[in-house]
Amino acid sequence: MQGSGTLDKGHRHYGSRGATTSTTPTYKITSLLNPTDPSQLYDDTLPEYLGPVAIDSIRGRGRGVFTTKDISSGELLIASKALAIVFPDSSLNCSKLWREVKKLGALREQVGDLIKQEPGIASQIYDLYAGPHLGYFETPAEIAAKTIELIDMERIERICSFNAFQGSVQGYKSETCFGLWYFPSFINHDCLGANARWTVFKNFMFVRAFKPIAKGEEVLISYVDPNESSAFRRNFFLKHEFQCSCALCCLERSDGQCVRRRRDILLEDFRESQAAEDGGNFEIIQTTLTELESLRPGLPESNVFLIQPLICAGFSHYEKSRYEDAQSYFTRVFDLCSQLGQLSLLCVSCSFTIATCLLRRGKNAEASHWVEISKAWMKKTYGTTENGLIQILRPSFFNEMNANGLM
Ligand SMILES: [Zn+2]
Repeated sequence: MQGSGTLDKGHRHYGSRGATTSTTPTYKITSLLNPTDPSQLYDDTLPEYLGPVAIDSIRGRGRGVFTTKDISSGELLIASKALAIVFPDSSLNCSKLWREVKKLGALREQVGDLIKQEPGIASQIYDLYAGPHLGYFETPAEIAAKTIELIDMERIERICSFNAFQGSVQGYKSETCFGLWYFPSFINHDCLGANARWTVFKNFMFVRAFKPIAKGEEVLISYVDPNESSAFRRNFFLKHEFQCSCALCCLERSDGQCVRRRRDILLEDFRESQAAEDGGNFEIIQTTLTELESLRPGLPESNVFLIQPLICAGFSHYEKSRYEDAQSYFTRVFDLCSQLGQLSLLCVSCSFTIATCLLRRGKNAEASHWVEISKAWMKKTYGTTENGLIQILRPSFFNEMNANGLM
């Protein structure tokens, strides 16, 4: 029998929609990072921003977002306020599947209520893709005709199901959100070829270039973390009725079903053992790593499934003050993540840790080099390198580096 549970619907909030500005506003990332309670998860004062990008159609592939000028790494492309957002309570004692159904229902309801309250918003909602069966409206006239009809809950559900993003809210415990954002919904997916990344701060989504993008190039993001299990990713792509053809996904398909299943079991067992034992069991970490490596021999640089066990192995050494060993694990994590924009936050935290390991080994010049690397990744991830941000992200790291004159 399914357990019961409800989604957090107590914080529904529509508010007035922020005006979209085309001059880059200054967003103070440090003030967005630390909402302390759910009421602070909504911000009506922030302006929305549409940067040098435009939506265009792609022959045979629907629509996409393209740059209108050369973009540099770390540049903000879009800051978008959620049309609707729910915060599924992961502590509820109900199955994962049931939570999925609940959160989709809650989002659909919110979007329906939003159209009732603000009929003008319907043209934005109905502009979004509603899946291969319902498609999307080609012309503004078609959308206008739609807005005078009754609220179309079937289309709204399909729109939510095909466009909603699920992700963690930056700096807010480990809460995840499930929300619908207008402009980001037009950006297409690529796990490996992504040139931008999305981050959720409160009810805002920021889309930022994480590498230089030439004028006219398509902006691509990864909807899911590329190191999620095969089953999770396959399920995600199935639900969205597309197949990713990036090199990582092709490699995964060529691995074959047995290898994929074995890998998923290994990762699942690994997570369970981590959850059961505080700090993890090093022997289990090591055997997981060895077997995961044997499942993709000869291609260590593409074995993104090693990321979590490598982090655990690194921390296991770090906690025992074995900094040289810890550093070698974190360097491997850094190398794996640096090719994947959606994991750039891991590059930031890995470079912090590598710098600390070097400092504690008395290698101050090398530590200073890794502080610079961490700042470069902060720029790609958050668009800023201000010390205040490091103080919030990793206060102990900041204090240690500062005390040694490296900050
Ligand atoms: Zn892919």
